[in-house]
Amino acid sequence: MFPATLSDLTALVPAPPGAAARDGEGHCRRVALKDAREIFQSGRALVAHAAFVAGRLKSPAAKPLYDVLELFAFMRPGRPLVPSALGLARALGLELPRTPEASARALFEVTQRLLEEARSLSSEAKARLAPLAGTLARAGWRWGSLLERALGEVPHGSPIAGLEAWRGLPQWEDEALPGTPGSMPVTTDEARLRLARLVERPRSEQEAYSDAATYAFGPREESGAPRIALVEAGTGTGKTLGYLAPASIWAEKNGPGLWISTYTRNLQRQIVQEIAHLYPDPTERAEKAVVRKGRENYLCLLNFEEAAKRTALAPGQRSVALGLIARWIGSNTDGDISGAGFPAFLAASLPLSEITDRRGECIYAACPHYRICFIERAIRRARHAPIVIANHALVIAQAAGDWLATDQTNDAPQERRLRYVFDEGHHLFDAADSGFAALLSGREMADLRRWIRGPEARARTRMRGLEERLKDLIADHEEAQHALEDAVQAAGALAGEGWMARVTGGAPRGPGEIFLSEIYTHVRARSDDRDAFYTLEAEPQPLGAETLRAVTELTRALKRIAEPLARLAKLLRQAMDEKSATLEPSTRARLEAAARGLDRRARLVLPAWTQMLETLETGEISDDFTDWFEISREEGRDADIGFERHWIDPTIPLAAEILEPAHGALITSATLRDAGAEDQDWKSAEVRTGALHLPQPPRRASFGSPFRYDRQARIFIVKDVARRDRDHLAAAMRELFLAAGGGALGLFTAVKALRDTEARIAQPLADAGISLYAQHVDRLDTGALVDLFRAEENACLLGTDALRDGVDVPGRSLRLVVFDKVPWPKPTILHKARRARFGRSYDDLLTRFRLKQAFGRLIRGPEDKGCFVILEGATPSRLLATFPEAAPIKRCGLAEAIGDIRGFLETPG
Ligand code: SF4
Repeated sequence: MFPATLSDLTALVPAPPGAAARDGEGHCRRVALKDAREIFQSGRALVAHAAFVAGRLKSPAAKPLYDVLELFAFMRPGRPLVPSALGLARALGLELPRTPEASARALFEVTQRLLEEARSLSSEAKARLAPLAGTLARAGWRWGSLLERALGEVPHGSPIAGLEAWRGLPQWEDEALPGTPGSMPVTTDEARLRLARLVERPRSEQEAYSDAATYAFGPREESGAPRIALVEAGTGTGKTLGYLAPASIWAEKNGPGLWISTYTRNLQRQIVQEIAHLYPDPTERAEKAVVRKGRENYLCLLNFEEAAKRTALAPGQRSVALGLIARWIGSNTDGDISGAGFPAFLAASLPLSEITDRRGECIYAACPHYRICFIERAIRRARHAPIVIANHALVIAQAAGDWLATDQTNDAPQERRLRYVFDEGHHLFDAADSGFAALLSGREMADLRRWIRGPEARARTRMRGLEERLKDLIADHEEAQHALEDAVQAAGALAGEGWMARVTGGAPRGPGEIFLSEIYTHVRARSDDRDAFYTLEAEPQPLGAETLRAVTELTRALKRIAEPLARLAKLLRQAMDEKSATLEPSTRARLEAAARGLDRRARLVLPAWTQMLETLETGEISDDFTDWFEISREEGRDADIGFERHWIDPTIPLAAEILEPAHGALITSATLRDAGAEDQDWKSAEVRTGALHLPQPPRRASFGSPFRYDRQARIFIVKDVARRDRDHLAAAMRELFLAAGGGALGLFTAVKALRDTEARIAQPLADAGISLYAQHVDRLDTGALVDLFRAEENACLLGTDALRDGVDVPGRSLRLVVFDKVPWPKPTILHKARRARFGRSYDDLLTRFRLKQAFGRLIRGPEDKGCFVILEGATPSRLLATFPEAAPIKRCGLAEAIGDIRGFLETPG
């Protein structure tokens, strides 16, 4: 049963090869892995992040635990937190633990503080919290009974008492749409004056940068010929404030209509912080600068309510997660579940897709929460804000017509968005690559089928299909009912729930699954390594006779689905038209939303799929595209099977759909140009941003970094590591990490090499007091891993591609970056097509960019010092031009590099 007091618990902190354990009497000891698992499984362990600890102990998280993160999320909802004992101690202002033993002690201290906080709440606050604590206690939450004691028990009321967090949320107000933005110019003098207001003493490079950025905010002189400024600026130039100066003046004179777009969430957060210089008053700031993300990032209150009702009082972590999310909903949040204040660790207990609107199920004005909906509020705030901070994926999804992922209620966003700042502009190519791609896969088909027919295998939920959503709207419309019936029947041809097992098990059902089954066999037959950890792919041609038959059948079936969907959309629009004098605004909004959803599928999604299939039949594909079949894998398991089509040059649609309609765009980054070929350097920037496809040439400028790389950085190409030998590679990483005393990021081109290295070096590093975190090993998302790494000055982190750009760690926490080898691009079908288009030097160009971006992680401030190592002696010299000229590069043996690194990092600045 639950303990009477905290003294019955044992705090457990993983410390390879076992853990540090501290009992309630204050006795601390190191325990072996087996004993650590026993404590963990006993149900009396006090931990920070149960899923992470379970992963570290390689133990199933069988019993509910005393996870202090949960207690924190209950007591301080919406507060950002690094999910560890150190993060908890920092959030509570306690002494920061530096060892596993100190972390175990900190877990007790944090718990005592939080329970004390609960005891000392006002009686009103206690009365507000007690019902939820009671509900969660009945659901088996470990902290429930201790909190009930602190807050006072309340009589058992509604089974979801305290979970109804939507009650009391403020309503959004509708306002008239703002007009089209003007074209009043911004002068460089104005921009400099604004910059001087934002920065006490702007440096001359920052002023020059701001001048260059100002070009993008002048009036457009010719339709279809936007003013594009390509401005490269090394780290430390002060880019954000440099462009915010002219951008904010433009917005004041002409807005709303300015979108600042980034690639990473991290930079989005940083821009929000920098905007505080512009609008110091938080209320003004919230109104004038709004963060906008795709709708899948926001909590859907209706889905949350239904999940809460379904789960009511069922014992288990799912109920706990919903209860803690209820606390977060009530914490004055903007509903962004990818934001810093959301308790992301709960994703281990509740798939977040259940509480977001990922499948286009939103019922808009028919939803009881419509007037308080987070998504609707975010869309409206962004419409009226002078500055919107978005991301490349959202900007491109909207331009690509992917309204499902964006905001279906926004009427004509392109017309009002006339100026862009694309920060992290070097990522535009990749963002456009995924944003403008088409995919016909098992998952996509199953999603569409579910959207039309509702869930078929599980208990019925609101994810209920067209029939449920439309039945009252078309109750008196026989023709529409027939169209709906036809669509529902035709959708039975698509892959359905459980398709993967049937397809891989040789028992596909219907044309969709038969097609997938053919692809599965085709890819496994034609790819080299069918048991590989990674995604498998194969060129479609030549197609076997059976596959061709499956293609023809599926093409027919897709057309049979598109036709009634389009018919139904037309009938709904007709009904709107005919009844326009009498329609309630909410019914009109529902009809409009339904017609738009149907049209999108009938006129965009299904025709795109059909067209892809038809080219398979003829074998003719436009030179602009490349196609392939794929079995995509996640963590070594088959996750999806599909047919992909990508633009060989995705900047063609980027230029046509986004840049050309705009009046001006600043595309900026620290790594826009390739430094390999003197005369080609700007060309590479134009090729990768789409500027090449525009009628008016871009204005270009570049500014070097103010950092003293000769003093701040060292680069080593290590010649004598047999990196194909796992033991040698791990030993090299270990010794380099130890030489730096931690603060190291190890980057791998293969997951297997990463895992092998982690298994070999975790304990020796732990023995030296250095924590090691690893992507693909620890059960944490990339953001949480980086947060943990950043929070400790001497931690090490292993990762693959995603970490190369996602890490922004100024200061000592990152002082060494080690690449296991030269990060050449993988020779995928798509890459081969691009190399054929852009030339053989394309490989070098991509690799130089990768190295430059990774090097850019290392030195973030004038006081930073860092070393960069590539463990491949055969690194071609032509790649090294990518590093700043002043940074010394040395080719040497491992021992010499280790000695140099130790000496360099130990010598004060
Ligand atoms: S309006 Fe749509 S997204 Fe918002 S809460 Fe309702 S169903 Fe969810």
